[in-house]
Amino acid sequence: MSYQARAAVLREYGGDVTIETIEVDEPADNEVLVRTAACGVCHSDLHFKQGAMPHFPVPTVMGHEAAGVVEKVGKNVRDLQPGDHVVACNTIYCGTCKQCLYGRPHLCLDRMGPAARRPKGSSPRLSANGEKLIPFTDLGGFAELMLLPERAVVKIDKDIPLDRAALIGCAILTGVGAALNTAKIEPGSRVAVFGCGGIGASIIQGARIAGAREIFAVDIVDSKLEQAKGFGATTTIDSSKTNPVSAIRDQCGGVDYAFDAVGSTDLLCKCFSSLGPRGTAVLVGAIPAGEKLEIEARGFLGGERSITGSMMGSNRFKLDVPYYLDLYRQGRLDLDSMISARRPLDELNDAFTVMEGGAALRTVITF
Ligand SMILES: [Zn+2]
Ligand SMILES: [Zn+2]
Repeated sequence: MSYQARAAVLREYGGDVTIETIEVDEPADNEVLVRTAACGVCHSDLHFKQGAMPHFPVPTVMGHEAAGVVEKVGKNVRDLQPGDHVVACNTIYCGTCKQCLYGRPHLCLDRMGPAARRPKGSSPRLSANGEKLIPFTDLGGFAELMLLPERAVVKIDKDIPLDRAALIGCAILTGVGAALNTAKIEPGSRVAVFGCGGIGASIIQGARIAGAREIFAVDIVDSKLEQAKGFGATTTIDSSKTNPVSAIRDQCGGVDYAFDAVGSTDLLCKCFSSLGPRGTAVLVGAIPAGEKLEIEARGFLGGERSITGSMMGSNRFKLDVPYYLDLYRQGRLDLDSMISARRPLDELNDAFTVMEGGAALRTVITF
């Protein structure tokens, strides 16, 4: 037996998504069928659509920042049942490799193994008229139904609105996690965040939650800088008018942590140049393949600066998601202001157009 669902399918890089009726297979062992309630539109979706992530083939059901309600569970699924509210996360982990055992499931060495994917030769999870469709990052959130590995799902309490909960699955895990887990910002630190879209706003919130004394927000869009103040930025810098590195260095001599929330070699260099003697630059955004970083090596002398990546906010999502939802309940994590628009699935292409214009914080597709 299979199920039908409307879904956003990308068939060609650079093209628009088409809204199609697809077939969703019956949940197999350790799989969960989820009725999608909401799925946020992330920059990674746009990058993928534009063809910047060719390691993910097409045709693909897009979307990876989703929340919904469990409809059915396959065999051997023990901790979920129909009616449960869940958040999906693409850091699927095996639980037995070295990195998983070290407590770093976000770096799982078998990320695309049997915990995430069906064995070769099995029927596809998703299809259209017999043609296999690939769920983007093994999730496929822009669809009325998601068929997910149980290791991609965490149960949440039912009092949290699902459009807010969806944001946790990517923007919040990535941004707040980069601040709290990857950088481990200490109270009293000075922090700079380059790029104040969804991820940047989430990093700013993480820095505030960690107790940073000073948070510089850098962007070129006025409305984003204004919103950044609401999320906890103490100083905003319009980098189309002011050199952010000089401004930061003049004000405090250099920050302890600087985050590139966009994924640009230029911004990562600026992050590095903004650091104080023992500062850390953290790359959070996705830099296109093949880009090289050019920094003055002397920046490593006369101090102990470092540069690090952050993989999905170094998350352990089964622990982090309930934690972040507690912070939301207590008013310490603002999810409400993160959503700039809610749209139906049919308007997904419009949501991408708005995102390309640079003004949207987070559009959420609601079902
Ligand atoms: Zn994302
Ligand atoms: Zn593993």
